[in-house]
Amino acid sequence: MTGPGDESPEKIDPQEAFQLFSHEMRLEILFAIWKSPNYALAFSEIQDAVGERDSGKFTYHLEQLTGQFVTEIEGQYVLQLAGHRVIDAIQSGIFHMSPTVSPVKAPGSCTHCGTTPTFEYDELLATVSCSECETKLIEYPFEPGGFQDRSVAEAVSAFDRRTKFLWRLASSGACFVCAGRVEVAYTESAPQIDHDDRYGEFFAADHPALFHLSCHNCSFYSYIPVGIRLLDDPTVVGYLAMAGIDVTTDHLWELPFITDAELVTVQSREPWDILIEVPTETESLTVRLDDDASVHSLTV
Ligand SMILES: [Zn+2]
Ligand SMILES: [Zn+2]
Repeated sequence: MTGPGDESPEKIDPQEAFQLFSHEMRLEILFAIWKSPNYALAFSEIQDAVGERDSGKFTYHLEQLTGQFVTEIEGQYVLQLAGHRVIDAIQSGIFHMSPTVSPVKAPGSCTHCGTTPTFEYDELLATVSCSECETKLIEYPFEPGGFQDRSVAEAVSAFDRRTKFLWRLASSGACFVCAGRVEVAYTESAPQIDHDDRYGEFFAADHPALFHLSCHNCSFYSYIPVGIRLLDDPTVVGYLAMAGIDVTTDHLWELPFITDAELVTVQSREPWDILIEVPTETESLTVRLDDDASVHSLTV
């Protein structure tokens, strides 16, 4: 068995793995097994489900998947983790769906002016903005799967919870796409976004510092507000709870320390030393982030 640290941990060539699905029957086989109870079916049941009468042909295609995507256990073909992931990638909708949502009211209020913000969705990107002060509060990709079996209001809530979770995870160094190592670095600008000529529209373009997240193993990268790290510090979270701010229920776009550039002050760049002001109803909290993107201290 190969494992972490071995020189050639690849079971099969990744390009060959993708080419396996150039024949539509192989996806049909995976989907048939997925839709059965316990993700397991007998040979004849799969053959019936995909409607292939030629046993030789069917056997050939099933064999191509056996091992990495499907395993035979006591006469049943069982979906393996790789098989699940192929289905999950398709069901996320990013390959074949492009829904749009015209602006609808989003819960909460704009952190700048108090107006009810709007949510809209286009080209796989969800945006929460304020029309009153013409501010983009939060913008991030969201899979079309997020709208399945949900009302738009439920999808807006799911977008909030998911983005909060993904930003926390990635800014702690773990990739939510491939489980790889994410480099977390401060930056003053977002060159890749700039390169794509989108920086002017980027929701956090005016922030004096951002996190540049970049996965060592896959193509994942993001630029996100540095205030996200406050959500992973139990002392800060506890203090905010006592001040009436519940970061588990408040939406990302309702947290001024995430949306408001003016609350972020860069004290030093070498090493990075950042102050984030967190206003509450009674007093203001100042949180200091150190060079390794952790909360260094908080002062009231
Ligand atoms: Zn506003
Ligand atoms: Zn990754």
